[in-house]
Amino acid sequence: MIRPEIADLGAYALRQYPHRIKLNQNENPFELPGAVKTEILGRLARASWSRYPSFVPAEQIERVAAFGGWTPEGTLLGNGSNDLLQLLFMSVLERGKTCGICQPTFTLYKILARGLGASVEEVPMTRDFRFDVDRIVSAAQSRSADMVVLCSPNNPTGTLLARDEVVSILEQTTGLVVLDEAYVHFAPGSLVDLLGKYDRLVVLQTFSKAMGAAGLRFGYAFCRPALAANLNKLKLPYSINVFTLLAVDVLIDHWPLLKGWIDTIVRERERVLTALRAMPEVKSYPTGANFILFESLRRTPPEVFGAVLEKGILIRDVSSYPMLERGLRVSIGTPEENDQFISALKAAV
Ligand code: PMP
Repeated sequence: MIRPEIADLGAYALRQYPHRIKLNQNENPFELPGAVKTEILGRLARASWSRYPSFVPAEQIERVAAFGGWTPEGTLLGNGSNDLLQLLFMSVLERGKTCGICQPTFTLYKILARGLGASVEEVPMTRDFRFDVDRIVSAAQSRSADMVVLCSPNNPTGTLLARDEVVSILEQTTGLVVLDEAYVHFAPGSLVDLLGKYDRLVVLQTFSKAMGAAGLRFGYAFCRPALAANLNKLKLPYSINVFTLLAVDVLIDHWPLLKGWIDTIVRERERVLTALRAMPEVKSYPTGANFILFESLRRTPPEVFGAVLEKGILIRDVSSYPMLERGLRVSIGTPEENDQFISALKAAV
């Protein structure tokens, strides 16, 4: 009964390993202070659990729109940004349609597109992991791509797309352009303002990374209101629960605290990069995110992964991604966690 394109798919799995320090999923290492959690729980205690959340959570939509700098009519809320990726892909792709993606990038894009029966046009990044804009455009043009997915900063390379690169892609293609900005709060800035000019653009962001709320499952999409109205037709009602909706309000109230964390993470990222650059056996790549892609010149990724894990530190072996045969990825942790990672890596390489 299962459609053949799904039966043929590999599963998107993440193996669990016992560890002390978790630097494998690009999460925020800082936990919300007890007082903030108590405030959320207090609001939850006063809310009704027996009733559905509001059909259109207008208050949160307005707050998220103001937070991200776009209009509420063009704002969609999701149960994580994965939820909205699925909605977007379902709304555009099917058998006979084509989706352009860069490689290496976030694995889910290809799985979703393939699962819907669409063909996936994979455009390799350059050897030093920059976006190859000319190739993206020519691939999209030659296949008349219905959708092009861009990720900036890109997971797992950390690469940023410049504004003129995104504009150039928008100007020279005809399909929907999805710009996944899951890590944008660690980067110089969002390109959300391009929505003022382009009606084929969708920008996705999430509270799972910089906002320290991966466990809450909250993401959002910005696009033109007419597109949002169409996307909303297939969106499951009530996909965001009462707890998450209340927490989103409180998190936005506490933006100065979250911003402080982000500044620390960005400073730490530069410190870890400097330490990696000082290791002659390690090659690291520039990053605009809260993680670093690196390669060990002498030892294999499983060897380095295992040696670091022996010290209790879990990083990500990304060597199964296209072009990353020697690739490892580490998320930026607290200063103490990063110190431990740096000394474990020194010993491992
Ligand atoms: N986009 C990218 C590029 C990601 O790396 C992730 C998380 N790994 C997501 C989207 C999904 O994030 P979430 O569903 O937690 O919002």
